[in-house]
Amino acid sequence: MFSGSGLKLGRVLGIPIYLNWTWYPTVPLFAVWLAEQFSAAHPHWTLTQDWVLGFLASLLLFGSVIFHELGHSAVALRYKLPVLSITLFVFGGMAAIGRDPDRPLQEFNIAIAGPAASFLLALAFLAVAAPFPASSMVGAVCSYLAELNALLGLFNLVPGFPLDGGRVLRAIAWAKTKDFRRATQVASWSGQTIAYLLILLGVVAAVEGQAWENALWLVFIGWFLLAAAQQSYAQVAVKRVLDGLSAADLMSAELPTIDRSLSLEDYLHEVLRTGRRCHLVLGNNELVGMITLHNVRHIPREDWANTSIQAAMLPKSRIEWVGADEPAAGILTRMQETDVNQMPVLRDGQVVGMVSREAMLRVIQTRLQIERLAHS
Ligand SMILES: [Zn+2]
Repeated sequence: MFSGSGLKLGRVLGIPIYLNWTWYPTVPLFAVWLAEQFSAAHPHWTLTQDWVLGFLASLLLFGSVIFHELGHSAVALRYKLPVLSITLFVFGGMAAIGRDPDRPLQEFNIAIAGPAASFLLALAFLAVAAPFPASSMVGAVCSYLAELNALLGLFNLVPGFPLDGGRVLRAIAWAKTKDFRRATQVASWSGQTIAYLLILLGVVAAVEGQAWENALWLVFIGWFLLAAAQQSYAQVAVKRVLDGLSAADLMSAELPTIDRSLSLEDYLHEVLRTGRRCHLVLGNNELVGMITLHNVRHIPREDWANTSIQAAMLPKSRIEWVGADEPAAGILTRMQETDVNQMPVLRDGQVVGMVSREAMLRVIQTRLQIERLAHS
């Protein structure tokens, strides 16, 4: 739900790393929290020392989260699964892997690689801290990060979707049942159970009069895990429904076109007349762009008559294309990530049709209905 959005930080192993906006407040918050910890543990340090180290440790912690995600990604890449992005958001990191693994063992290894990377990093920080006294700055920061990385690894091993432990559980259930969907259901139920337990724990903590921040934090994490567990299962269901379908199966072969020299008012007449909202724009009978109602939205009503389609359209170079053989599930993900509703379909350099989000949702809905009929 956060993948591939936000500020691009750079690329590692060819994978773009993004900072989602929800991540920004966590750096100063962690810096404050860590500075407080340092000041309590090392009263002889100055305030500046506490703050600088708090901030540094906070950044190192997020570097550690990236390292954890790179652990998953490196194994996924080894199995030739595409890793689309790594995104840092408020609760940590997420590596978006383009395709589900083919075998339970692959899933198991990809899932376990993250916590393994965190434990490895914990050992590395311990090794760096070893020669320094615990009261020194290097010693304090490194042993603290060793502890945090070990915690990160442990928390992720909790056996509920969407945590790594949930994926490990799914891999085991998958190997046992040979049914990916049932295995996902098991991991999702386990995730939801753990989420409810966390929420309950938070409520109990609040009732028993413990610090309200801790109680609220538990409820918040529980609620987040609950939503994520439900969403992961829904995603798997949608992917399964679209399995085996490509752009060519879902596209409409009708290609409404319109000339670039016409005005936006003419375009809107055409939309009203035909009920089609997306047109390919032609100039001298060549494709030059695409126009949808979306492109007209930010142009004032009074300018529609004297603004050409050419001026408002999405130029050819910025159109998101799909190949005729591209799998449907991937197209839906791309539409969500780029916030596009229609994509022209190309075969051998020729536009052969148009896929729309609407048409895809209709197919998903119909197929799910038929499945339910078949099972009842
Ligand atoms: Zn992980």
